[in-house]
Amino acid sequence: MLRRLLFLSACIALLSGCATQPPLPATDQFLALDADPRVRYEPGAEAFAAQVSSLLPQSIQQVEAVHARPFAAPVEVFVCGSADCFARYVRTPNLSAAMVRDNRVFLAPQLHGREAHRLQPILAHELSHLHLGQQIGHYTPSVPAWFHEGLAALAANGGGADYATDEQAIAAIRQGKMFAPEMRDTPAQRHTAAFWGLDVYIFYRQSMLFVRHLREQSAQRFQDFLYAVQDRQDFDLAFGNAYNMPLSEAGDRFRQLLNPPSITANNE
Ligand SMILES: [Zn+2]
Repeated sequence: MLRRLLFLSACIALLSGCATQPPLPATDQFLALDADPRVRYEPGAEAFAAQVSSLLPQSIQQVEAVHARPFAAPVEVFVCGSADCFARYVRTPNLSAAMVRDNRVFLAPQLHGREAHRLQPILAHELSHLHLGQQIGHYTPSVPAWFHEGLAALAANGGGADYATDEQAIAAIRQGKMFAPEMRDTPAQRHTAAFWGLDVYIFYRQSMLFVRHLREQSAQRFQDFLYAVQDRQDFDLAFGNAYNMPLSEAGDRFRQLLNPPSITANNE
């Protein structure tokens, strides 16, 4: 009976992952880095793994500082030395350089090649997803996509949103193109860039600017909100309690700040 109950609760905990993704293929062929077994690598990618290991302490610290909490479980990073390896574990290998699945960060070979300059910011971005996911489930729709991505990009100093600039993100807002922060995701519909008709990097950049704006409004309110989200409180309620306004109003204020209405009426 106990065993059945445990199985049932494990399934409930994994439900969102089970429903949307096939099981993760075996990772037996990865080797643990001698100097840092948190990092595992496809045979041949030891130098890449060593580099990841050297960046890990700083990246973990960066994420824990922004999330204001330590990781809830050990960090595991899997380093792919070949495109085939990465494609086995990641559903959109051509769109992503990294992804979290089943509590593991997977990194693509180009982060040790043509996109080596992105390795640290992308690692930090994924570690933010891992950190939140360890507490509330990975990419859970109870937290909107803009928050997952905005927090991760903020924790990574722009990592993951690095192919769009602040100026480009703000220009889109001035053209009336921005996500609506009050829109809740569902298991069937995550409101990501495509839904809003935005370039993916513009969406990530806008998400980061909005999350940063919330933190700049009040570090204390932001921390209260972030703690509540990490404690699995209802997202809208957590925001309302911390900021004393609904997300729709916070979105309106943000847009107005970046795109103030004309004041020519006062000069008549
Ligand atoms: Zn992300």
